[in-house]
This record gives sequence, structure tokens and C-alpha cells, in this order.
Amino acid sequence: MDKQTAQSRIQALHEQLNQYNYEYYVLDNPSVPDSEYDRLMQELIQIEEAFPELKSADSPSQRVGGQVLDAFQKVEHRIPMLSLGNAFNEQDLRDFDRRVKQVVGENVQYTVELKIDGLAVSLRYENGVFVQGATRGDGTTGEDITENLKTIRSIPLRLKKDVTLEVRGEAFMPKKSFEALNEERSKLNEEPFANPRNAAAGSLRQLDPKIAAKRNLDIFVYSIADIGETGVTSHSEGLQLLDELGFKTNKERRLCQSIDEVISLLDEFVQRRPELPYEIDGLVIKVDQLNQQEELGYTAKSPRWAIAYKFPAEEVVTKLVDIELTVGRTGVLTPTAILEPVRVAGTTVKRASLHNEDLIREKDIKIGDTVVIKKAGDIIPEVVNVLVEKRTGDERDFHMPKECPECGSELVRIEGEVALRCVNPKCPAQIREGLIHFVSRNAMNIDGLGERVITQLFNHQLIDDVADLYKLERGQLLNLERMGEKSTDNLLNAIERSKENSLERLIFGLGIRHVGEKAAKTLAEQFETMDRLQQATKEDLVAINEIGEKMADSIVTYFANDEVSEVIQELKDLGLNMAYKGVKREESLSDSYFSGKTIVLTGKYESMSRNEAKAQIEALGGKVTGSVSAKTDLVIAGEAAGSKLTKAQELNIEVWDEARMLQEFQS
Ligand code: NAD
Repeated sequence: MDKQTAQSRIQALHEQLNQYNYEYYVLDNPSVPDSEYDRLMQELIQIEEAFPELKSADSPSQRVGGQVLDAFQKVEHRIPMLSLGNAFNEQDLRDFDRRVKQVVGENVQYTVELKIDGLAVSLRYENGVFVQGATRGDGTTGEDITENLKTIRSIPLRLKKDVTLEVRGEAFMPKKSFEALNEERSKLNEEPFANPRNAAAGSLRQLDPKIAAKRNLDIFVYSIADIGETGVTSHSEGLQLLDELGFKTNKERRLCQSIDEVISLLDEFVQRRPELPYEIDGLVIKVDQLNQQEELGYTAKSPRWAIAYKFPAEEVVTKLVDIELTVGRTGVLTPTAILEPVRVAGTTVKRASLHNEDLIREKDIKIGDTVVIKKAGDIIPEVVNVLVEKRTGDERDFHMPKECPECGSELVRIEGEVALRCVNPKCPAQIREGLIHFVSRNAMNIDGLGERVITQLFNHQLIDDVADLYKLERGQLLNLERMGEKSTDNLLNAIERSKENSLERLIFGLGIRHVGEKAAKTLAEQFETMDRLQQATKEDLVAINEIGEKMADSIVTYFANDEVSEVIQELKDLGLNMAYKGVKREESLSDSYFSGKTIVLTGKYESMSRNEAKAQIEALGGKVTGSVSAKTDLVIAGEAAGSKLTKAQELNIEVWDEARMLQEFQS
């Protein structure tokens, strides 16, 4: 690799890793498996080693953790909270051992601990009383999450001795709590957490401690930060002291006399990993003697006396025998890899989504290839990469068709989207998928009408649109394969019952583009009846906080369609409920003048930026929009306000100055 190539690769890796860091540490919602992040990081480190002059101080390889959220008080760590160097195989561990021995000589013992997959926290005790708890943050500054940490029952609020000290540990969510939480979230139609680590981090970074309290978090404390004051001389003694003080430490630790002994433990823990009640992603190996630790010291990012051995991600090799195309509800074509069945992490995998053509090109996937498969987030199978060296020459390139495989109409690629789409509204695949969506659990929730029955009904031409579902007759259903008397009656009852659903289910079921479940609920709450929603203008829609321009456009376009109006009329005639039955949205912010009002900000304010004013108004329940119209309730004009102010005056809209706005903020 020449220097120029290295430079541009480094640049690309910086961008990618910074993005992944942001998703992982700030959003608590990573988009790639850790192994992928680790792979890119290793690549960066290797290039930086080859071209040390290209290593910059702001390289992700030099930084600990993520950003600190402004929502919390900041805590300066008196002793930095660092990351750990990584080892991925035996050789890396032997290299670590060699580096250690070069500094401290041959006589080294190692403690081996489980690497708990949660988030690092620091706990401060004064005279035996828990006074402050913080996240690692960027290693120097963390977030004060004391109140959230107090909800973890295994964190002692008072120690058995009146000591002043700071300890470090890993807060985590046990597997059982994680499963229960995700189950509950799926019932509430909330997005599940990707893994227990992100669930724990997300829970501890909630502003309301009641949420953390409900999440059943736990902790293992693994070190004393200011060990100098305790009189202990080794890490293992430190752990014992932690036990004596009343902390919860992990008992799976071992003291090893050599790196060979450490290595001999790796397999044992890989085997036991699935049985443990909490997630671990590796082992942490630490030089046990504290004077040796001191001699070894730290790099900018991690201690030289410890290393994290990361377990191999569960990956398997299989053959990709074909690529199948499916047309989704919105017409998007998705290629799916058909695999020779293979077991990954406890289940047999036969298919893996390839998402889109770009991904197939990017990964250079051909039909007949040998591929590496793994489960992303341990759930969704994915093709990791192709083993190019296993090609025989019989592999075939895959090409996306020009026409929809279901209806033959020409496919289009909408600007800014990678996906190819069939835009024929009569495409049978889309209609069928739309029907499956309509009856699904989170939409009309019609029991007994799954993908199989819908497909049968559709293929027998018994249903063409959602209204047809309500015209099905007993005889027609009885004629279907595998439909007995009882299941027919149950099904007819379920269809009948669904007529009573509250409006949001129907709105969501219609499958209006960009309108998810949450938006459907908002629309139902806000408009209360289908009639009113059908008549809503774009302005009415964007006046609602959660509804953006794109969604508003999509809703207006949808209801402007004559066929849509006909189907809705039919549904009405068939007796479907068209009204919202839930509780009307609570006007909790109604005390503020801004609550529920549409406000336009214009000109320059002296005391704050327009964005700051906007944030405050929104926090008080107001909606800030960009242009003045008849729907505007109030214009707040700063210095040098121009055409918006004139327009407001023309339309006779109330106008405030900055002072009046500040008065309202303070009231
Ligand atoms: P790390 O996870 O490699 O190791 C350091 C951490 O280990 C410590 O901060 C501590 O929290 C934890 N730990 C657990 N048990 C411990 C024990 N017994 N003793 C000491 N420490 C213990 O480093 P990191 O900086 O926290 O995170 C980097 C890792 O996070 C990456 O290797 C990657 O796997 C993952 N990551 C993933 C993404 C993504 O997008 N998927 C993004 C960023 C980071």
C-alpha cells in the first residue's frame, strides 16, 4: 500500500468508525456487529503502524468511548476510565505476555475475569456512603447517573466499612431481563434493543430513574480505582476487599501462573458462554501485582497491564445456492440468499436477506459462492463475506431483472434510494403483501388470517382489496385447503370483531407510505375520525408535532386517490368503525401559552439563537414552523425581521417581541 492509498483509506476508516462509535455510544443502537467494528479498527491500527506519520491525535484508535450527553451533569473522572487493548487469538495473548515481560521480568501472574458485556461505571463512596455514580463517557468526563445507579439493588448504598474510595464496575442487564424487556417492547410496538449491552446503556442514560428501576439491571464491580489508599498489593486482593466491603464481584475469576494457563481457559469459557445468565464478550486478562501494573503504565487509551480477549463471533461457512427475489408491500424488490441449511448459534439457517443489489455488488456475491454466515445481533442471519479462494469457476453473476418478477412491469430506482421498486399499484405481490399487512397483529389483528390463508384467498381470487375480506362467505372459506368448520367460524368471528377496532389500527393497516404504527396512533388521536383525516390538508398535518413534511405529503396523496376513497367508503358501508376509541391525548403542557400553538420565529434575538428559542417553545408544547400562513398562531419577531413579519401583519396574526417571549419562558 502506498502512502496516498493509506491516507485515503485512513480517512474512510475514520469516518466509518466515528459513525459506528456515535451509534453505539450515543444512540445505544449499533448498526453493525461488534466484530465488524473490531475488524475495521484492526485495519486502521495496522495501517497506522505501517505509516506512523499518518496517525493523528483524533484517530478513533486513540480515543476512548463516545460523547457525553448534555442531558446529564458532567463528572470529571479523577482517575481516567480507559478502554482495553484487544486480543483476538492466542498469538495476540502471547504477544501481550511478551510485552509485559519485557518490562517487568519473567515472574508474572495474571488474573482472568469474564468480560461482562455492559457498560463501565464509576462509583464513588465517601465515608462508606455512595455519593456519586458516573458513566465512562470519553474516559475523562462522564455523565452523572447516580440516581439511576441507585436503582440497582446490588450496588450498596452503604459499605460495611466507612471508607472513602472509588470503584469501577460493569453495569449490565441479565439475559432474562433483556428478553422480558424486548418482549414487552414488542407488545407495545416499540423497537427492541439490539442486545443487553445497549439495553443496559439505554436504561442508565434515561433521565427518569423510574425507567432504570424497572429494567432489572445488575452490576459486577471489578476494580478499585484509587487502590493506593487501601493497602492491597494485588488485583486479586483488591477483588477480595471489594467482596468484604459488600460489593458484588464476579466469582468466575481465576489466578493464572502463566499465559499458557490463561490460554488453556479460553475454550472452557467459550463453551460456557451460552449458559451464563449474563452476556460476556470475552475475558479480561490483567497483570495481578499492582507494582508491576504501575511499572507497565498506560497508553493514551488503555492500560499496558491488561488486555481483553474477544471471543470469536459465531460464524459458519456454507454455500449460497440461489438468489430469490421478493416484492414487498411498497413494491421494493429484496434479494434473498438461499443457503444450504446450516446451524448457527443454535438454529438452522436457510435464508439470509441480501437487502439490495448494491450490497450484492459490494460483497461480490455470486450464485454458487461459498460464504461466511453469521447472525447479526445473534438473530438475523447475514452473509458476512465470500470466500473467493473457494471459487471453482462455475459461479454465476446475479443481475436484478428489469421487470417485476410478479407483474412484469418495469422496475424503477427512485432517486436517492438504493432499492429497485415495482410502482404498479396493481402488482399482485404488493396487493398480497398489503393484505398480509392489513390483517397483521399490529394492524387489524385478525386471528387466523396469516400469510398462508391470505395467499390462498388471493390465489383463488376471493380477495382483491381489504374490503373484500369483509365480504368473505362461509362456503368460500370452507372450500379452501386445510380449512375446517371450526377454523372457518373462528376466522369469520375474528373478521367480524376487527370491525370494532379503534381507528389507529385501520390507519396503520391501510399501509400509507411512511405512516408507521406510532404515526397512525397520533393521527387517530388528533383527527378522531376517518372523515376528518381524509379531509386534512398538508398544513393541518404538519401542524402536528410528530408529522413531518414527507409523511404529510404521503398522507394527502394517499387520500386524494379515488380508489382509496372508494375502498374506505366500502369499509364504512361494511360496518367498520371509523373513530378513535382511545383516550384523547392529554394536554399536559396546556399551562403554557405556547402549548398546541403554531409559531413562526423570525429576525435575530439578542439573548439566544432561534434554534434555542425553538427548543424551548417545543419543550413547552408549541410547534415551530418555517413560514407564516393562516394557520400560524403567533410570530415572534426579533431584530431586522423582514417579510415574515410583514406577512403576519397582513394576515392579522399576533406578533410578539423577544422580551414578551422571554417573559413567557419564565412564567
Ligand atoms: P472494550 O469493550 O473492548 O473493553 C473495555 C471495557 O471492558 C471496559 O470499559 C469495561 O467496561 C469492560 N469490562 C467488562 N468486564 C471487565 C472486567 N472484568 N475488567 C475490566 N473491564 C471490564 O472497550 P470499549 O472501549 O468499551 O468498547 C470497544 C468495543 O465496543 C469494541 O471492541 C466493539 O466491540 C464495541 N463497539 C462496537 C460498535 C458497533 O458499532 N458495533 C461501536 C463501538 C464500539
